[in-house]
Amino acid sequence: MIIVMKLGAGREELAEVKKQIRELGYKPHVIHGETRNVIGAVGDERGKTVLQALESLPGVESVVPILKPFKLASREIKPERSVVPIAPGLAIGGKELIVIAGPCSVESEKQIVETARAVKAAGAKILRGGAFKPRTSPYSFQGMEEEGLKLLALAREETGLPIVTEVVNPRDVDLVAKYADIMQVGARNVQNFALLKILGKLDKPVLLKRGMATTIQEYLMSAEYILSEGNRSVLLCERGIRTFETATRNTLDISAVPVLQEQTHLPVLVDPSHATGHAHLVPSMSYAAVAAGCDGLLIEVHPHPEKAASDGPQSLRPEDFSAMMARLKKFAAAADRTLAE
Ligand code: PEP
Ligand code: MN
Repeated sequence: MIIVMKLGAGREELAEVKKQIRELGYKPHVIHGETRNVIGAVGDERGKTVLQALESLPGVESVVPILKPFKLASREIKPERSVVPIAPGLAIGGKELIVIAGPCSVESEKQIVETARAVKAAGAKILRGGAFKPRTSPYSFQGMEEEGLKLLALAREETGLPIVTEVVNPRDVDLVAKYADIMQVGARNVQNFALLKILGKLDKPVLLKRGMATTIQEYLMSAEYILSEGNRSVLLCERGIRTFETATRNTLDISAVPVLQEQTHLPVLVDPSHATGHAHLVPSMSYAAVAAGCDGLLIEVHPHPEKAASDGPQSLRPEDFSAMMARLKKFAAAADRTLAE
């Protein structure tokens, strides 16, 4: 249910409504809107009509049901777009298009620092790199683990770029959170509800990849797991879905971008690297993603893709990334976005 407060409703009235919601066995989530505050009362769907009585409380304008199964992620509860702060002066979801770039895996100090410098020079605002890798084969490189996290932190120190890295196992959340600015949940973990609930208790942004076979509704229900635990900083990322097509690694669901923008207030990113699996397809899909209205891109870049420990074929060389960023400016401008130098 959404409890819509009156325009001039004060702090005490808001507190009283929150108290009553809790007494009825629901969790209140206050959303401070541009014009008025609303409170989402989430909990057991079966008895929610009891919340209707709150309409008689002072300061309450109306009590309306949220029709979508995802509540806190929906635009019904928050029509304005969310802007997720990442670091001082850096946020995702505003007018500025944010490009996140870096290698699939952290491999060495030289590799990560060199890549960080190159992507920063080309205009990337956040560095990516996997230290814990969820690989299809148990015999493939599994990542450098904590050593990799330390190298990411070193690259951040060298360049000032915040870092995003994946957490695969609920057991490693505290360790990864010690180093990361953004916690990534990979496609394979999109419905690892135990992991999502732990991340929901953190005070740190979470970049949640879409699963390779999750519908948009299922995807938003996964985001809801994080939001319902209290963490409001969720970033979505379309990274291609599994179809019958084999010419590309996955099929980039470009229409997911406007559909998500319609259904949720959360920022939407696109990862054209895992979507296509081929470096030469990354620029065109990045332009298409910007035209479709994404808030940012996640792109794999490696100084020597032929030697990469993982995902070399889809990784751009720094010079190709730089050329792509120069061209991306025009698409960003056409989509009414800015792309900082
Ligand atoms: C990654 O970003 O390196 C990754 C493993 O992506 P995904 O979870 O989308 O496959
Ligand atoms: Mn990868």
